Parts: sequence; structure tokens; C-alpha cells
Amino acid sequence: MVSVTPPAKVGELAVKLDVVDALPAYAYDLAALDAHAAAIRAALPAGVELYYAVKANPDAAVLRTVARHADGLEVSSGGELAHAAQAVPGSPLAFGGPGKTGAELARAIAAGTGRFHVESPHELRLLGAAAAAAGRPADVLLRVNPAPAPATRTALVMGGRASPFGMDPGLLGQCVPVLAELGGLVRPRGLHAHSASGLDADDLVAAAARLLAFGRDWCGRHDVPAPEFNLGGGMAVDYRRPDSVFDWERYGRGLAALIGPGETLRIEPGRAVTAYCGWYLTRVLDVKHSHGEAFAIIAGGTHHLRTPTAKGHDQPFAVIPVSRWLPDWSRPGTGAGPVTICGQLCTPKDVLAGRVPVGGVRAGDLIAFGLAGAYAWNISHQSFLMHPPPAFHYL
Ligand SMILES: *Cc1c(COP(=O)(O)O)cnc(C)c1O
Repeated sequence: MVSVTPPAKVGELAVKLDVVDALPAYAYDLAALDAHAAAIRAALPAGVELYYAVKANPDAAVLRTVARHADGLEVSSGGELAHAAQAVPGSPLAFGGPGKTGAELARAIAAGTGRFHVESPHELRLLGAAAAAAGRPADVLLRVNPAPAPATRTALVMGGRASPFGMDPGLLGQCVPVLAELGGLVRPRGLHAHSASGLDADDLVAAAARLLAFGRDWCGRHDVPAPEFNLGGGMAVDYRRPDSVFDWERYGRGLAALIGPGETLRIEPGRAVTAYCGWYLTRVLDVKHSHGEAFAIIAGGTHHLRTPTAKGHDQPFAVIPVSRWLPDWSRPGTGAGPVTICGQLCTPKDVLAGRVPVGGVRAGDLIAFGLAGAYAWNISHQSFLMHPPPAFHYL
């Protein structure tokens, strides 16, 4: 059973919006996000900086809330860079991600971007050219694709095997002569490694230890004083067990034991920061049975909330029963038992939760999907079928 309990104010909002026919909608619980981000910050030891990975949810109000507790924002494109600079003026920025263009790098230098996470020797040259044109040096972390981890429970692996992200140690070595050629225009400040998504605290501390062992040696051999190590994001969000949240205190204690004198560690989580604050609120349009199985069709669907299809899980939800039923014919519904929740798209992939047990659901009831604050609206194929977009509400 993948159920969640929305806070009273979220349930009340859903009911209010339903009455004025304003569902589906997203609600962001900014008060909960503020408290959660504060707790993450408090769990991290001195010497560990917190950057938020904007790609998880770039909503301006979300960014401003997280930024109160973060040391900066990590952006992955020129679009995110411009948006983040406008939403949170003055916030330190780190620019990462594959396939940066020369034009993006030039704009990032002009915007005063503090760190560039460089993905290849070619990108290092591009950055050098942009820095030369601007007459301003760029500070870089070289992104490595580190040695494979022992077996993990990871879903999205981004390091330690063939990968478009970062550099194998051999390719990293090719950056050394490029850096020498570029002189002081591009200043190496340390290494970056975001290797996987969906890791628990012990897995991530072990990954940090491997990066530090490699990185201290590498930075020592290549004269990088007071090195910085960006450990990436990837802290797990368990959609199957919404109550078991990432153990930030355990992670913080692990990092405290690893950090060396003169070093800066930096993390850039996304999902585990904002997932919990988001709610996708909608209404059941129809309920029917096919070959003995119950289906509930909701207003909206995976074009608003692609997370369950992207990650292959059932999105946790709560049914909010509504007694109001205006038509004078009987109300379709299903009793206690499994139901598949589908959206309005003409594709069998438009499933938000499959054969999930409920206490009963009828047309006209409301559904509040939880854990919808990260990789949700902004990764969805929003214009497919041209249904109207949801409205956004901030609590
Ligand atoms: C996506 C990404 C992150 C954030 O990952 P989460 O799983 O959302 O914590 C951090 N760093 C890089 C380089 C990324 O690509």
C-alpha cells in the first residue's frame, strides 16, 4: 500500500478548488519545505556546503525557500542559470551538466558563476575560450566518473561504468596539459562526482570516501591547494515507503568523519530536498471495471506528473471522499480493493498507480498524490493531448 496522509491544509485546498472546478492543481507546502531544508542544513557539519540541484524543481518560490538554507544553487543549463539568477538574485551558482555550449559558458561567466563543473577536455577548452573572451578567470571542478562501487541498490547509475557523464581517470589526465595551456584563465579547484541516484546514507558516505581517496591523491599530484570535492546528489526518496526518509543526520556524521583539514566538501541534492513538499491534487472523473479490474480515471495524468512512469513506481496517494454528486444518475465507484489510477491520455502508459488497494473510490472523489515536489511537473510531457496545465498554489 503506497498511501500518504496530506496535511489538513492540503486536503482543504483540494476541496476548495474542486468546488470551483479548478482541479487538477499542484500545491507546494513551502512551510514544510522550509523546515525540511533547515533540518538538512542543521545535519551537515562545518565544512560541508549545501547546493540545491535546481533541475529537481525550479519553481521560483521553491528556489527562494530552499535558498534560505543553502550555500548556493547548482544549475544544469543556460536556461536554469538565467532563471535561478532571477529567482534568487545574488545566490552563488555552480554550472554543471553535459553538453554546455560556448554561448552558455560565456553567459555564465558574465553572470559571475562561481564554479564550473567540467565534463571533458573539450569543454575545458571551450570554457577557456569563453574566459579569455570575457577577460575573467573561471573556477572549475573536474567531474570524474569514479571507480565502480560495490553492489548498491541504485536505480539510476551515473558513474563507475561507461557513461556520458564526467571523465574516466584517463580522460581526466588529458585535462592536465589543457589546464597548463590555459594558464590562470581556468583555475582547477577540485573534483566533482555525482555517481548515482537513490542511495542511502551509508552508500553515499562510502562513495564520498572513494572520491576523497582518489581526489586527494589527484589534487596533491596536480598542485590543487585546499581542494574542494563536490559529492553530488542522489539521496534516496523511497516512493514505496514514503515515511522512510533519507537519514541526513547519519550522512552528516559520516561526512564529519571524512572531511580533512583545509578541504571543502559540497553536496548538491535535489530530489530528497523538494520531493516531499509537493502535492498533485485532482478529481476522479470516472470509475469502471474491465476484465475484473477496477480503473479510476482522473482529471490530468502523467502529462502533469510523469514521476511514476519515469521511475517505474506507484505514486503514493490519498483518496479524499466527496459526498457531493450532482447528476441524478447513479455514481460509478468501486469498493475496498485494488484500483488502477489512470490519467486522461490516450496511451496505456498513462498510469499513476497500478492495482493499489484503496478503501473504495467513486467518481467525484478527490485524489492527493504525494511526493510530487521533485522531477514531477517539470519533467512531464506537458503538451501531449493539449489538456490545460494545472494551477500552482503555495501553502
Ligand atoms: C541530477 C543531479 C543532481 C541531483 O540529483 P538528485 O538525485 O535529485 O539528488 C546533482 N548533481 C548532478 C550533477 C545531477 O545531474
